[in-house]
Amino acid sequence: MFTSLSDRLTATFQNLRGKGRLSESDVNATVRDIRMALLDADVALPVVKEFTRGVRERALGSEVSQALNPGQQVVKIVNDELVKILGGETRQLQLAKNPPTVILLAGLQGSGKTTFAGKLAKLLKDQGHYPLLVAADLQRPNAVTQLEVVADRAGVVCFAPEQGNVGGHDAVTDSGEGTHSFGDPVWVAKAGVGQAKVRGYDVVIVDTAGRLAVDENLMQQARNIRDEIQPDEVLFVIDAMIGQAAVDTALAFQDGVDFTGVVLSKLDGDARGGAALSVASVTGRPIMYASIGEQTKDIEVFHPDRMASRILD
Ligand code: GDP
Repeated sequence: MFTSLSDRLTATFQNLRGKGRLSESDVNATVRDIRMALLDADVALPVVKEFTRGVRERALGSEVSQALNPGQQVVKIVNDELVKILGGETRQLQLAKNPPTVILLAGLQGSGKTTFAGKLAKLLKDQGHYPLLVAADLQRPNAVTQLEVVADRAGVVCFAPEQGNVGGHDAVTDSGEGTHSFGDPVWVAKAGVGQAKVRGYDVVIVDTAGRLAVDENLMQQARNIRDEIQPDEVLFVIDAMIGQAAVDTALAFQDGVDFTGVVLSKLDGDARGGAALSVASVTGRPIMYASIGEQTKDIEVFHPDRMASRILD
């Protein structure tokens, strides 16, 4: 990911090499190149505008460091502005004062939620926590089995309706597209959190159902779960490969469930990556984790400064 953006920016900076000082037209040309590189990488227009305004103002401003040549200065400014649009500081997971810490996952189907649930559980387990996964995606029959497999790989327990906890509801028909859910996800989520309290799990990660496109029924379901279990964190998982659609999807989920943090998944892919760069900026919510592969170990805590350096490397 970001290879092409990275190459384009490096080429832009090459043009500044050997210049004694930067004229206004040097700055304008550089900013124009950066703008094109960002747009070609699928970064959303408002984000590009904010970014290039910041770079231009600072490059033309009085901010002159004796230690850096003009080219290095522009690299530093671009780096700082990238860190800014990526959310600035690293945001740690908010742990509840009174455990369990409850984490709700939301996102489109196929975004990588279930896989991420296992990765996060393993990461937290390795840090000494005692996580419980809760399978509240009852929309796809195999979603529960998938979470059980993921839990097994992570070496954690999964609370699932198969254990006889279908919530005392008969199968209900989803009014959307005639798909069936086979239990009440709100009940399962609540029962899962209840189990965690009784059995001493200190983190509960609740997987929810998604659709291939934003769907009001499922958004309402996620909201109902959220209102019932009052999570400490609502993490929105987004596939970094979905390109320009990322921004609208993120805004729809922000409106729908008001998430507290973002998980960028599939960052190991070769998409242009600009959409991923836009999400924190347009929603004002921090990117907290990156998913970088299909294995349980393929998770990173997201550090805006490290990501910026990686792009500018
Ligand atoms: P969900 O429908 O949101 O629960 O998505 P899944 O967790 O089932 O993931 C959908 C597909 O994407 C699966 O084939 C996963 O193996 C794959 N996947 C998930 N996360 C990543 C990732 O970070 N990188 C790559 N390359 N594939 C991923």
